[in-house]
Amino acid sequence: MHVVELIRKKRDGGALTDAEIAFLVAGAATNSIPEYQLAAWLMAVVWRGLNAEELHSLTTHMRYSGRVLNLSSLQGVKVDKHSTGGVGDKTSFLVAPIVAAAGLYVPMISGRALGHTGGTLDKLESIPGYRTQLQEDEIFAVLSDCGASIVGQTEWLVPADRTLYSLRDRTGTVESPFLICASIMSKKLAAGLDALVLDVKNGSGAFLKKEAEAIHLARLMVATGNHAGTKTAALITNMNQPLGRMSGNAAEIVESVEMLRNHRHHLTEDLRRLSLELSGWMLYLGGKVPSPEDGVQLAEELLISGLPLKKFGCMIAAQGGDLAWFESPQWLHRPAYQHPIKSSSAGFLSRVDCDQVGWAVQRTGAGRIVPGEAVSAHAGVETHKKVGDHVTLGETLFTIYVEDEARLEAVAAILNRCYTLSEEPPALDPLIYQVIA
Ligand code: URA
Repeated sequence: MHVVELIRKKRDGGALTDAEIAFLVAGAATNSIPEYQLAAWLMAVVWRGLNAEELHSLTTHMRYSGRVLNLSSLQGVKVDKHSTGGVGDKTSFLVAPIVAAAGLYVPMISGRALGHTGGTLDKLESIPGYRTQLQEDEIFAVLSDCGASIVGQTEWLVPADRTLYSLRDRTGTVESPFLICASIMSKKLAAGLDALVLDVKNGSGAFLKKEAEAIHLARLMVATGNHAGTKTAALITNMNQPLGRMSGNAAEIVESVEMLRNHRHHLTEDLRRLSLELSGWMLYLGGKVPSPEDGVQLAEELLISGLPLKKFGCMIAAQGGDLAWFESPQWLHRPAYQHPIKSSSAGFLSRVDCDQVGWAVQRTGAGRIVPGEAVSAHAGVETHKKVGDHVTLGETLFTIYVEDEARLEAVAAILNRCYTLSEEPPALDPLIYQVIA
């Protein structure tokens, strides 16, 4: 097969056959097709889309591009959650231990920072020693001992997504519902799940900003999951402002552990509520409770019991992470410099350009500008106000955290233009727009 012909065919609106897609995916998995050709094909997909057969082929070939996890000897239900990418989204660190505390298994294959959104693996690697690249028997052992294991794609698990994910990040080809669906669902189906809950972000901080786009993506993923025999539901959720208080790496781990310790703060109530809703749906689809509402109630009881905190600590230690900081979580987040962003007027916070906050977080050093570069564990942005809050002149809206002082100016420039104040309080959007199940 000729790669250039396949690129041309897609560019001109044609549909690729299953064999042609298999060829491209194998080329991505084995690095036998150069990145510039894969990037051209990805861009053609962004513009032309995929039909149902092509999407099925792409997801399936990506899923089987390496070995799939075989957890059949773990007796119990395997359930997971995946988000389409957000800012300050640390729900994985809450839902995985909550659902594990209910006795279900959570084998979670996560990604790194992508575009303006944060990466679960980058956040976990801010814990000294934490390993995200495990072999199958190691994942099995962590799941048996702790109930949850959060790992990354490896050479043997969905290698095609490893190549394509990083390439999309560098070529402006992230924002395609078809590519997002294939990327997420190939990883999730390779983990051999019984049930999956998707958190499809919608709003200024999401990849797909319009409601209709989010619904389209949610329907594609729910259909793909159910068709493959994994009970799948999607919650379309509000990503118009960072979730919780902290956006970064260690800062998000600290915030999650504080929440697992049941420390409540009005700026983190959105994170708590969303985590309980997602956990509730996981418990419901995993057959633990008769309804999602019962699931939310059980999730809250478990969170209050403190058992999820133990599960999280168990997982960190089992994956090589240092737990010396666990009793005093603040110790983990030690930025060298901090800088406040103060309001230049008074009014109600009516809008946040949440993707701009995400780009600001990336430029603190918490994300990558150059592919493959190391991220800063201690960089990030703290949010002090939520949409609807009143702000006085000179009040702090954000705090920037960096390890490299030279980064402060560029980050401050972004944050100074990313919010709007109004005289009247704005109408507030719900946290969860709808559920597609
Ligand atoms: N998360 C993924 O795993 N892939 C995407 O394409 C977007 C978010």
